Amino acid sequence: MPAPSPPASAAKPAPAAGPVGRSDAASTAPAAGALRMVQAPIPFPDSRKQEMAAYSLRHYGTASWQLTPTMVVLHYTAGGTAASTRNVFSADTPNAGELPGTCAHFVVDKDGTVYQLVPTTVRCRHTIGLNDQAIGIEMVQEAGPSSSWADQQILGRPAQIGAALALVRQLQSTYAIATGNVVGHATANSTPQFHDLTGARNDHTDWLPADLAVFRSRL
Ligand SMILES: [Zn+2]
Repeated sequence: MPAPSPPASAAKPAPAAGPVGRSDAASTAPAAGALRMVQAPIPFPDSRKQEMAAYSLRHYGTASWQLTPTMVVLHYTAGGTAASTRNVFSADTPNAGELPGTCAHFVVDKDGTVYQLVPTTVRCRHTIGLNDQAIGIEMVQEAGPSSSWADQQILGRPAQIGAALALVRQLQSTYAIATGNVVGHATANSTPQFHDLTGARNDHTDWLPADLAVFRSRL
Protein backbone atom coordinates (compact mmCIF):
# COMPACT_ATOMS: atom_id res chain seq x y z
CA MET A 1 0.00 0.00 0.00
CA PRO A 2 1.30 3.41 -0.82
CA ALA A 3 1.05 6.46 1.27
CA PRO A 4 2.08 7.44 4.72
CA SER A 5 2.04 4.62 7.16
CA PRO A 6 0.02 5.19 10.26
CA PRO A 7 1.77 4.64 13.57
CA ALA A 8 1.16 0.97 14.06
CA SER A 9 0.95 0.95 17.78
CA ALA A 10 -0.38 4.43 17.96
CA ALA A 11 -0.46 5.85 21.37
CA LYS A 12 -1.64 9.27 20.46
CA PRO A 13 -3.88 10.50 23.17
CA ALA A 14 -6.11 12.71 21.10
CA PRO A 15 -4.84 16.18 21.81
CA ALA A 16 -8.44 16.97 22.20
CA ALA A 17 -9.52 19.67 24.45
CA GLY A 18 -11.82 18.47 27.10
CA PRO A 19 -14.34 16.40 25.29
CA VAL A 20 -17.31 15.87 27.46
CA GLY A 21 -17.96 12.62 25.70
CA ARG A 22 -17.94 9.19 27.02
CA SER A 23 -15.12 6.72 26.74
CA ASP A 24 -17.01 3.59 27.64
CA ALA A 25 -15.19 1.23 25.41
CA ALA A 26 -11.70 2.39 26.15
CA SER A 27 -10.61 -0.49 28.30
CA THR A 28 -8.04 -2.10 26.07
CA ALA A 29 -6.68 -0.03 23.26
CA PRO A 30 -3.93 2.43 23.97
CA ALA A 31 -5.06 4.61 21.11
CA ALA A 32 -8.54 5.09 22.41
CA GLY A 33 -9.53 8.65 21.95
CA ALA A 34 -12.37 10.14 23.88
CA LEU A 35 -15.56 10.14 21.92
CA ARG A 36 -16.80 13.64 21.23
CA MET A 37 -20.36 13.12 20.01
CA VAL A 38 -22.63 15.83 18.65
CA GLN A 39 -26.29 15.08 18.02
CA ALA A 40 -27.21 16.47 14.59
CA PRO A 41 -30.31 14.56 13.55
CA ILE A 42 -31.48 14.76 9.96
CA PRO A 43 -35.23 14.95 9.35
CA PHE A 44 -36.67 11.44 9.46
CA PRO A 45 -40.44 11.95 9.47
CA ASP A 46 -42.97 9.15 9.12
CA SER A 47 -42.97 9.63 5.36
CA ARG A 48 -39.28 8.75 5.16
CA LYS A 49 -39.78 5.80 7.50
CA GLN A 50 -42.47 4.49 5.17
CA GLU A 51 -40.12 4.95 2.21
CA MET A 52 -37.52 2.91 4.10
CA ALA A 53 -40.05 0.21 4.93
CA ALA A 54 -41.10 -0.01 1.28
CA TYR A 55 -37.44 -0.18 0.20
CA SER A 56 -36.88 -2.95 2.73
CA LEU A 57 -39.84 -4.90 1.38
CA ARG A 58 -38.51 -4.66 -2.19
CA HIS A 59 -34.93 -5.51 -1.31
CA TYR A 60 -35.14 -7.70 1.79
CA GLY A 61 -38.66 -9.06 1.76
CA THR A 62 -39.94 -7.47 4.95
CA ALA A 63 -41.49 -4.05 5.32
CA SER A 64 -39.64 -2.46 8.22
CA TRP A 65 -37.72 0.72 8.87
CA GLN A 66 -36.52 -0.43 12.25
CA LEU A 67 -32.95 -1.55 12.83
CA THR A 68 -31.47 -3.99 15.30
CA PRO A 69 -27.81 -3.54 14.44
CA THR A 70 -25.59 -6.59 14.00
CA MET A 71 -22.95 -5.06 11.72
CA VAL A 72 -21.06 -1.84 11.08
CA VAL A 73 -20.12 -0.63 7.58
CA LEU A 74 -17.29 1.87 7.18
CA HIS A 75 -17.45 4.51 4.47
CA TYR A 76 -15.77 7.73 3.47
CA THR A 77 -17.48 10.69 1.91
CA ALA A 78 -15.31 11.14 -1.22
CA GLY A 79 -15.49 14.88 -0.78
CA GLY A 80 -17.37 17.56 1.00
CA THR A 81 -17.54 18.37 4.68
CA ALA A 82 -19.47 17.00 7.61
CA ALA A 83 -22.03 19.75 7.08
CA SER A 84 -22.44 19.16 3.35
CA THR A 85 -22.70 15.43 3.93
CA ARG A 86 -25.45 16.02 6.44
CA ASN A 87 -27.22 18.24 3.92
CA VAL A 88 -27.11 15.53 1.26
CA PHE A 89 -28.52 12.98 3.68
CA SER A 90 -31.20 15.37 4.86
CA ALA A 91 -32.54 15.98 1.39
CA ASP A 92 -34.21 12.58 0.95
CA THR A 93 -33.83 12.66 -2.82
CA PRO A 94 -34.05 9.46 -4.88
CA ASN A 95 -30.91 7.42 -5.39
CA ALA A 96 -30.75 5.01 -8.33
CA GLY A 97 -34.38 5.86 -8.94
CA GLU A 98 -35.59 4.91 -5.50
CA LEU A 99 -36.55 6.52 -2.25
CA PRO A 100 -35.59 7.06 0.49
CA GLY A 101 -32.44 9.05 -0.14
CA THR A 102 -29.15 7.77 1.16
CA CYS A 103 -27.98 8.40 4.69
CA ALA A 104 -25.59 7.12 7.32
CA HIS A 105 -25.97 7.03 11.07
CA PHE A 106 -22.71 8.81 11.90
CA VAL A 107 -20.23 11.15 10.26
CA VAL A 108 -16.71 11.33 11.69
CA ASP A 109 -15.06 14.64 10.85
CA LYS A 110 -11.33 15.06 10.29
CA ASP A 111 -10.96 16.74 13.68
CA GLY A 112 -12.47 13.74 15.45
CA THR A 113 -15.92 15.18 16.06
CA VAL A 114 -18.58 12.51 15.64
CA TYR A 115 -21.97 13.67 14.41
CA GLN A 116 -24.90 11.36 14.96
CA LEU A 117 -27.45 11.95 12.21
CA VAL A 118 -29.86 9.04 12.66
CA PRO A 119 -30.72 6.86 15.68
CA THR A 120 -29.16 3.41 15.54
CA THR A 121 -32.65 1.93 15.80
CA VAL A 122 -33.61 3.30 12.37
CA ARG A 123 -32.47 1.88 9.03
CA CYS A 124 -30.37 4.07 6.75
CA ARG A 125 -29.74 3.44 3.10
CA HIS A 126 -25.93 3.37 2.93
CA THR A 127 -24.93 -0.12 1.73
CA ILE A 128 -26.86 -2.28 -0.71
CA GLY A 129 -27.59 -5.67 0.79
CA LEU A 130 -26.92 -4.73 4.42
CA ASN A 131 -29.19 -1.79 5.22
CA ASP A 132 -31.48 -4.01 7.28
CA GLN A 133 -28.57 -5.07 9.51
CA ALA A 134 -25.87 -2.45 9.57
CA ILE A 135 -25.00 0.86 11.12
CA GLY A 136 -23.31 3.13 8.59
CA ILE A 137 -20.36 5.36 9.48
CA GLU A 138 -19.09 7.98 7.07
CA MET A 139 -15.66 9.54 7.49
CA VAL A 140 -14.96 12.90 5.89
CA GLN A 141 -12.32 12.35 3.21
CA GLU A 142 -11.79 13.54 -0.34
CA ALA A 143 -11.52 10.90 -3.05
CA GLY A 144 -7.97 11.63 -4.22
CA PRO A 145 -6.04 9.40 -6.62
CA SER A 146 -7.33 6.04 -5.34
CA SER A 147 -9.51 4.38 -2.75
CA SER A 148 -6.46 2.95 -1.04
CA TRP A 149 -4.94 6.41 -0.83
CA ALA A 150 -8.14 7.78 0.68
CA ASP A 151 -8.38 4.98 3.25
CA GLN A 152 -4.75 5.61 4.19
CA GLN A 153 -5.35 9.31 4.72
CA ILE A 154 -7.97 8.48 7.33
CA LEU A 155 -5.80 5.82 8.96
CA GLY A 156 -2.99 8.33 9.22
CA ARG A 157 -5.08 11.11 10.77
CA PRO A 158 -4.94 10.47 14.54
CA ALA A 159 -7.91 12.56 15.66
CA GLN A 160 -10.26 11.14 13.03
CA ILE A 161 -9.22 7.51 13.16
CA GLY A 162 -9.10 7.61 16.95
CA ALA A 163 -12.69 8.85 17.02
CA ALA A 164 -13.83 6.29 14.45
CA LEU A 165 -12.25 3.47 16.42
CA ALA A 166 -13.74 4.73 19.68
CA LEU A 167 -17.16 4.95 18.05
CA VAL A 168 -16.96 1.46 16.62
CA ARG A 169 -15.74 0.06 19.94
CA GLN A 170 -18.71 1.65 21.66
CA LEU A 171 -21.14 0.23 19.11
CA GLN A 172 -19.53 -3.20 19.40
CA SER A 173 -19.98 -3.04 23.13
CA THR A 174 -23.57 -1.82 22.97
CA TYR A 175 -24.77 -4.30 20.36
CA ALA A 176 -22.31 -7.18 20.83
CA ILE A 177 -20.96 -6.77 17.30
CA ALA A 178 -17.96 -8.98 16.54
CA THR A 179 -14.98 -7.39 14.84
CA GLY A 180 -15.58 -9.69 11.88
CA ASN A 181 -18.89 -7.94 11.39
CA VAL A 182 -17.23 -4.55 11.07
CA VAL A 183 -16.84 -4.34 7.30
CA GLY A 184 -15.99 -1.85 4.59
CA HIS A 185 -18.35 -0.69 1.88
CA ALA A 186 -15.89 -2.22 -0.61
CA THR A 187 -16.23 -5.63 1.06
CA ALA A 188 -20.01 -5.60 1.57
CA ASN A 189 -20.90 -7.77 -1.42
CA SER A 190 -18.71 -10.59 -0.17
CA THR A 191 -20.06 -10.73 3.37
CA PRO A 192 -22.18 -13.76 4.27
CA GLN A 193 -24.95 -11.43 5.43
CA PHE A 194 -25.32 -9.72 2.04
CA HIS A 195 -28.72 -10.20 0.47
CA ASP A 196 -30.80 -8.27 -2.05
CA LEU A 197 -33.90 -9.60 -3.76
CA THR A 198 -33.49 -7.32 -6.76
CA GLY A 199 -29.97 -8.48 -7.58
CA ALA A 200 -28.45 -5.08 -6.78
CA ARG A 201 -24.77 -4.98 -5.86
CA ASN A 202 -22.50 -2.35 -4.40
CA ASP A 203 -20.03 -0.74 -6.78
CA HIS A 204 -18.26 1.42 -4.21
CA THR A 205 -14.63 0.96 -3.25
CA ASP A 206 -14.42 2.78 0.07
CA TRP A 207 -12.53 0.77 2.73
CA LEU A 208 -10.74 -1.86 0.71
CA PRO A 209 -9.93 -5.23 2.34
CA ALA A 210 -6.31 -4.42 3.24
CA ASP A 211 -7.28 -1.12 4.83
CA LEU A 212 -10.23 -2.68 6.64
CA ALA A 213 -7.79 -5.21 8.08
CA VAL A 214 -5.71 -2.39 9.52
CA PHE A 215 -8.80 -0.77 10.98
CA ARG A 216 -9.89 -4.04 12.58
CA SER A 217 -6.43 -4.67 14.00
CA ARG A 218 -6.66 -1.39 15.89
CA LEU A 219 -10.04 -2.10 17.47
ZN1 LIG B 1 -19.65 4.00 1.07
